[in-house]
Amino acid sequence: MTRRVSIFGATGSIGQNTIDLIARDPDAYDVVALTGASNIDQLASDAMRLRADIAVTADETQLDDLRTALEGSGIEAAAGQAALTEVGCRPADWVMSAIVGAAGLAPGICALEQGATLALANKESLVCAGQLILSTAKANDARLLPVDSEHSAVFQALVGEDMDAVERIIITASGGAFRDWPLDKLASATLAEASSHPNWDMGQRITIDSASMFNKALELIETREYFGVRPDQIEVLVHPESMIHAMVGFTDGALMAHVGPPDMRHAIGYALHWPDRRALPVDRLDLAQIGALTFRPPDEVRWPALRLAREVMERGGLSGAVFNAAKETALDGFIAGRIGFQTMAQVVEQVLNDTDPGHIDAPMTLDNVHAVDQMARQAARDVIEHKAG
Ligand code: NAD
Ligand code: MG
Repeated sequence: MTRRVSIFGATGSIGQNTIDLIARDPDAYDVVALTGASNIDQLASDAMRLRADIAVTADETQLDDLRTALEGSGIEAAAGQAALTEVGCRPADWVMSAIVGAAGLAPGICALEQGATLALANKESLVCAGQLILSTAKANDARLLPVDSEHSAVFQALVGEDMDAVERIIITASGGAFRDWPLDKLASATLAEASSHPNWDMGQRITIDSASMFNKALELIETREYFGVRPDQIEVLVHPESMIHAMVGFTDGALMAHVGPPDMRHAIGYALHWPDRRALPVDRLDLAQIGALTFRPPDEVRWPALRLAREVMERGGLSGAVFNAAKETALDGFIAGRIGFQTMAQVVEQVLNDTDPGHIDAPMTLDNVHAVDQMARQAARDVIEHKAG
C-alpha cells in the first residue's frame, strides 16, 4: 500500500535525510507536497525526482523561478506563508515537519487537523505551543512522533513501559563547538567557529544553537511537552561522543539507554516506519573500537540557556513562545555580526524578564502564540539595537 507523504522543509538537513530514505523505496510512497525557502533548484529537482503533486517556496519572490524550474513536469508551484499552510491541509498519511523555527507551527497544526501522522523535527513549534499541538493531535486522532535524536531515543525506551514507573529522563548533549573552550574566549567566538559541530552534520541554525546550548534548552522544554514529566525529572548530561542519545531512569533504578551513531536517518526512519522497525542505512557501532564513553555535568555558567529553559518550564503559558522568538532573533543578530556569542543569552533573558505577564497568561491559541512571538521578536530587536548601538 502506498502512503501519501509530505515533507515541510524538504531542502534542509532533515528534509534531505528524509528524502534519502523515501527515495530508496519510491513505490512505497506517493509524495504530496515538498516545501522549501531559498534553494529552488534543489526543491524543484527533488519534486520532479519524487513526482510530488506540488512544490512550495516560502519566498514569494522566487515563485517565477520555481515555476520555470518545474516547467513541463505537471507539478504545481506555489509560494508564501498562506501556500505553506494550504499544503499542510492537503490530505497525507505521514508528514515530516522540518522547517526551522516558529514558521513550522501553522503548517504542522494543519497537518494534524487532517489527522496525519506528524513526524516532528521542528522542535520550536512544541516549545512555542506544546499544549496546542498535543490537543490538536488528540482532537483529530492524529499521531505525533518525535524526530529529535534524544526524544526519539526516549520514545523508544518507553515502548511497553508505564509512565508511572518513570523516575527521570536524561537527555545527552555533545557540548557543541565550544565545550572545551576557556570561558573568557567565548565572548569573541566567531560565526564560522560556532557553525561547526564536532559530531553532527546539521543546518547552520541548530549547529550554533548546539554551541550555545539553546538547542538543549529547547529540548528540555520539548521533553516536558512530549512526555508530560515534571521539569525536575529531566536532566541534561554532557556526553562528548554523542553515542548515547538519551536514557530513561525507572523507579527500580534501571536506566534504559538508547545507543547509536550520530545519524538523523535513524530517528527519521523510526518515525517513518513506526510502529515497525525496518532496516536503515546507518552505520553499526563497534563499541570495542570506540572503547569508552564519557560524561560530565552541564555547566550553567558556560551555558546560561539551560537555566533560562528551566525558568520557562516553571513559568509555563506562552513563555515558551517568548523564549523561542527571542532566541531566534538573538541568533539572527549573532549571524548578522551585530552581537557577540554570549550576548545571545543576555538578549533572551532580558526579553523574558521584561515581558508583560498578561501576554504569558493569555490562552494558547494560534493567534495568541503568533502575537506573542511577534512582540518578543520586536523586544529582542530593541535589546539588540541597544546593545549593538
Ligand atoms: P535547515 O536550516 O537545514 O533546513 C530548514 C528548512 O526549512 C529548509 O528547507 C528551509 O528552506 C526551510 N525554511 C527556513 N526558513 C523557513 C521559513 N521561514 N518558512 C518556511 N520554510 C523555511 O534546518 P535543519 O537542520 O534541517 O532543521 C530543521 C528542523 O529540525 C529544526 O527545527 C531543527 O531544530 C530540527 N532538528 C534538526 C536536526 C538536524 O540534525 N539537522 C536534528 C534534530 C532536530
Ligand atoms: Mg537533538
